[in-house]
Amino acid sequence: MTFTESPERRQLRDAVAELAAKYGHEYYLDKARGGGHTSELWDEAGRLGYLGVAVPEAYGGGGAGIGDLAAVCEEFCAAGTPMLLMVVSPAICATVIARFGTDDQKARWLPGFASGQVRMSFAITEPDAGSNSHRITTTARRDGGDWVLSGRKVFISGVDEADAVLVVGRTSDARTGRLKPALFVVPTDTPGLEYRAIPMDLVSADKQFELLLDDVRLPADALVGDEDAAIAQLFAGLNPERIMGASFSLGIARYALDKAVRYARERSVFGSPIGAHQGLAHPLAEIKIELELAKLMTQKAAAIYDSGDDAAAGEAANMAKYAAAEVAVRAVDQAVQVHGGNGLASEYGLGTMVAAVRVGRIAPVSREMILNYVAQHSLGLPKSY
Ligand SMILES: Cc1cc2nc3c(=O)[nH]c(=O)nc-3n(C[C@H](O)[C@H](O)[C@H](O)COP(=O)(O)OP(=O)(O)OC[C@H]3O[C@@H](n4cnc5c(N)ncnc54)[C@H](O)[C@@H]3O)c2cc1C
Repeated sequence: MTFTESPERRQLRDAVAELAAKYGHEYYLDKARGGGHTSELWDEAGRLGYLGVAVPEAYGGGGAGIGDLAAVCEEFCAAGTPMLLMVVSPAICATVIARFGTDDQKARWLPGFASGQVRMSFAITEPDAGSNSHRITTTARRDGGDWVLSGRKVFISGVDEADAVLVVGRTSDARTGRLKPALFVVPTDTPGLEYRAIPMDLVSADKQFELLLDDVRLPADALVGDEDAAIAQLFAGLNPERIMGASFSLGIARYALDKAVRYARERSVFGSPIGAHQGLAHPLAEIKIELELAKLMTQKAAAIYDSGDDAAAGEAANMAKYAAAEVAVRAVDQAVQVHGGNGLASEYGLGTMVAAVRVGRIAPVSREMILNYVAQHSLGLPKSY
C-alpha cells in the first residue's frame, strides 16, 4: 500500500498547473461572463496530451488511468480554470467507448478523445425521471437497419461545444418486449436533434441544454457496443463520473482555500493579520483536513477502479464524490467569509463560485442519492424509495 503519488503523476500535476496558471481565473471569468468557452485552454491541453491521458495508447492516448485524468481535472480547477466537459467527454464517454465500443467505434472516436479534438456530451437526465434513471423514456426503435430515437433530456452540459452526444435511451427487448437501456452516439448535427440553452444562475464557461430528439434517424453502428451490454456500460461510466466529479470539487476547494489563506495572511484590521484570529484560522484548518481526507478517498477510488475492480470502486467513488462536494461548498463559503465585503466584490471572483460550487452536491448524482447508496450498500439498511 502506498499513500504517495508516483513521480510521473506529480510531474503531470505540475505541468497541468503551469498550463492552467498561464490562463488563470480571470481568463475563465471573462469567458464565462461573456458567454464564451475555454476553447483555447481545452485545445492546448488536448495538444499536450493532458485530456487524453487515460485513452489507450493504441489510439494515441497516454494509456494511463482515471487517477491521472482526475489529477488533470483537479489541477485545472485548483488554478481557477474548471472545465466541466472534462467530467463528461474524456471520462464518461471515452471510457464507455474504450471499454465497450466496437472496433470501428473505437477507431472513429478514440483518437479524437486522445487529442482533445473530439468533445462529447453525455445525456441521461430527463425532466420526468430525474434521479430515477430507471424511468427514462427516450426510446429507440428499429427501422430496417437504422435506429430511430425520440425523447427529451435536460441539463446536458456542453452540447453547443460538442461534436456528438452519448445518449442513454431504451430499446425494446425482442424476446420479452420490455424496455432495456441502450447507449447511442448522436452527432450534434443529426437532423431531428435540437438543443436550447437552459438559463442558469451559474457563471460557467460550460452551459446546460435541453435536448429534443424527434425521430432522430441513426445508423445501426450508432448503438455503442452490444445491445445487451448497456447496463454494464452505464456502470462502467458511473465510477469515472463520480471520481471526476470528486476531483472537480477538490480542485475548487483548493482554489478557494488558497485564496482564503492568502487573504487571511495579508489583510490586517486590528493590527494583526485576520488569520491570527482562531475564528478564521480554525475553519480554514478544518477545511484543509476535510480536503485531504476527501482527496485520499478520491485517490483510493481511482486506484481501485484502475485495478479493474468496478464493484469495489463503487463505494469509494461515491464516498469520495460526497466528501469532496461537501468540503468544496464549505471552502467557498469560508473563503467568502474571510474576504468580508470583498468576498462578494466582482474583483475577487469568489461570489460567482457560490452557486457554481453547489453543482457538486447535485450532479452527476445528488448527495442524497449517495447517502441512499451508502445506507443500503455499505450499511445494509432497507431501501426507502
Ligand atoms: C450544472 C449541471 C450540469 C449537469 N450536467 C448534466 C449532464 O451533462 N448530463 C446529464 O445527463 N445530466 C446533467 N445534469 C443533471 C444532474 O445529473 C441532475 O440534476 C441530478 O442527477 C439530479 O436530478 P434532478 O435535477 O432531476 O433532481 P431530482 O431527481 O428531481 O431530485 C430533487 C431533489 O430530491 C432529492 N431526491 C430525489 N430522490 C430521492 C430519494 N430517493 N431519496 C432522497 N432524496 C431524493 C435529490 O437528491 C434532490 O435533492 C446536470 C445538472 C447540473 C445542475
